[in-house]
Amino acid sequence: MTDKWYLGIDIGGTSIKVGLCDVDGALAHTYEGPTETDRGRECVLDNIAAYARRCVEEAGMDWGQIRGVGVGIPGQIDAVRGVVEFAANLPLSGVRLKDHLEKVLGKPVRIGNDANVAALGEALSGAGRGAANSVTYTLGTGVGGGIVVNGRVVDGFSGMGGELGHMTIVPDSEAVRCGCGRIGCLETVASATGIVRMAREALEQGVRTTLSEAGALTAKAVFDAAKAGDDTARRIVDRAAHYLGLSMAQVAVIVNPERFIVGGGVAAAGEFLLERVRKSFRAHALDRAREGVVIVAAELGNCAGMIGAAGLVRDL
Ligand SMILES: [Zn+2]
Repeated sequence: MTDKWYLGIDIGGTSIKVGLCDVDGALAHTYEGPTETDRGRECVLDNIAAYARRCVEEAGMDWGQIRGVGVGIPGQIDAVRGVVEFAANLPLSGVRLKDHLEKVLGKPVRIGNDANVAALGEALSGAGRGAANSVTYTLGTGVGGGIVVNGRVVDGFSGMGGELGHMTIVPDSEAVRCGCGRIGCLETVASATGIVRMAREALEQGVRTTLSEAGALTAKAVFDAAKAGDDTARRIVDRAAHYLGLSMAQVAVIVNPERFIVGGGVAAAGEFLLERVRKSFRAHALDRAREGVVIVAAELGNCAGMIGAAGLVRDL
């Protein structure tokens, strides 16, 4: 039994998940409780600390066995100063979270953006295990990402490292506006939102497609129709995969990762999506930057955030 334990806390708008990890990122125990954002900042901060202690207690361990606490937060994070600069769905904007938690928990604390932290989790203990350099794409409502180089996540100068969804990649003639205000971002074609938008546009143009019979227009409905042979749905999936693979070809000559990892709700489409992404990547990448490089599905699911957060402090 190791005496080095690390807590990883994954803060979301609905719930806070705490995971107790060993140095290899294996989860020994988890605890989950409501975030209670409606009750305000003090309540959320109290919940974080209370759930952290409860997780350790439930695991039958002593608080003294904890080496450090890592935290992943959805928002703009200054990881160096430990400040939550902006969090849209949490009452934590402007909070010096690292200082606060170090004071109330009495342990070293590091914080990071949730997508970067989840990428670190995959890199350390999931689909990136054994690879020093990996890049993770998280395809959900938006497109998040994280870059891990030599085992460390790249936050960058102002926390924008790994914002893969906002790579400008769609040509102007086909580009639409992204939630960030710019046009042509990867997110506009490769997120669930983007896939649904393309499907809605096809329906509005009166294209013949089985999607007109799908009840709710969701990314899953588009993938299901594509798998069943619907041409329109298949073109939408091909387009998302084309731009994902093209963006990976760009990343390949910047970071030259050994593995690209694809996770998030949209990635539930599995090999049907991945084989198309690989084809696009092979077609666009520089030979030497793609040799031996693999594109694989994420493995940790909802646990990536906790495991990655613990990974922020595992060198302590
Ligand atoms: Zn954007």
